[in-house]
Amino acid sequence: MEIAQLHKIFLESTGVCTDTRKLLEGNLYVALKGENFNGNVFAKAALAQGASYAVIDEPGFEEEKTILVHDALETLQKLASFHRAYLGLPIIALTGSNGKTTTKELINVVLSQRFKTSATRGNLNNHIGVPLTLLGMDKTTEIGIVEMGANHQGEIAQLCAIAKPNYGYITNFGKAHLEGFGGVEGVIKGKSELYDFLRSNGGLVFLNNDDTKQIEKSEGCKNYTFGVTHSDIVIDDQNANPYVSLSLQGIKIKSQLIGAYNGTNIAAAIAIGNYFEVKIEEIRKGVENYLPSNNRSQIIQKGGASIILDAYNANPTSMEAALRSLSAQPADYRVAFLGDMFEVGATTQAEHKNIARIAISLGIDEIYLVGKHFAAIADLGPSVFSYESFKEFQESFKGLRTRSENKVILVKGSRGMAMERVLDMI
Ligand code: ATP
Ligand code: MG
Repeated sequence: MEIAQLHKIFLESTGVCTDTRKLLEGNLYVALKGENFNGNVFAKAALAQGASYAVIDEPGFEEEKTILVHDALETLQKLASFHRAYLGLPIIALTGSNGKTTTKELINVVLSQRFKTSATRGNLNNHIGVPLTLLGMDKTTEIGIVEMGANHQGEIAQLCAIAKPNYGYITNFGKAHLEGFGGVEGVIKGKSELYDFLRSNGGLVFLNNDDTKQIEKSEGCKNYTFGVTHSDIVIDDQNANPYVSLSLQGIKIKSQLIGAYNGTNIAAAIAIGNYFEVKIEEIRKGVENYLPSNNRSQIIQKGGASIILDAYNANPTSMEAALRSLSAQPADYRVAFLGDMFEVGATTQAEHKNIARIAISLGIDEIYLVGKHFAAIADLGPSVFSYESFKEFQESFKGLRTRSENKVILVKGSRGMAMERVLDMI
């Protein structure tokens, strides 16, 4: 079937769905294949549940309203790309090693003060999520905001080819997914594919003018810059104690986010809002009302302690940023519960050792290291306690050693470590 014809069917449907458990009446069902499932098997059920049509890619599952294609995933991507061209709206793409979702949500709250926006839901940022995000936009959408994730070269280029962004922002180049990218230089090259796309297509880059690597990599792109000086928009007075606040043209903006790194995320959202002529007062309202979710940098009060729950994910860059932020908190006593960092690749051992060293050199009073990568580091001194697994930690942890009233506790690790479980133990 021609994509134009499928697009017509899509417009007459109530949206696209790839999971029969979430299917709504009138959805166009697309049968994707995962490691453990084959969507073709569910096509019949999808139609019985009220799907308008079902796109399948294996003969043998045909029904009255199935559309057989060569590759359903590729068809989904082509449909999304066709729809994007049909809508013709401005699209802002975001990538980077850390802070994409937070920044995406901040940009969305700022721009939605003035425009009808449509943004990536949650973390749906890959070769399936990006098409679904685009297909979630319609003729009433005024600006689209698309998070793009990647763990290897060429992925951002592919997502750009589908979403054809007019604007882009890279949060940072950090040590995330080092394994798939082949080291930090690989990360920089991979993420910069967004700059390459914008450069070749006359797009505009929102640029953190305080990040020399970003300046270098985005050379030749049109830009709109933000920073502490010499920028299109100057954002100053940044501090984080513990909540990030900053000021813009004499107006103070106080966020509900912690961690100095969030200052950059907020600054980016402010700059983008300003570029699209959202009034400063409206920008302020958007930023001040935004509350993070999903274990991302939340402060929880428990048992007389302030707990910084940042257990959503971790990599060497975000781990170091979180530790520095912990050491800057006003408190008498600081504790860190750190879980292993995954997907670090060849430098796994060195990076875990480095994080432990940083925690020690920052003077964190009690450091709990959980997981086999951390446990492989030998003898780190009296303030460090390490455990092979979460189970071992659960069995041997007898409580904090301090009686201090004024303590602050950081909880962080890769998603697979589910370090939020620490909350039940303190
Ligand atoms: P994912 O790769 O899972 O999509 P993401 O890039 O969307 O992650 P977020 O979910 O926004 O990132 O934030 C994850 C964590 O990254 C935060 O909880 C925080 O620890 C850290 N972080 C956020 N922003 C930055 C930043 N600008 N620099 C360094 N670390 C950051
Ligand atoms: Mg994300």
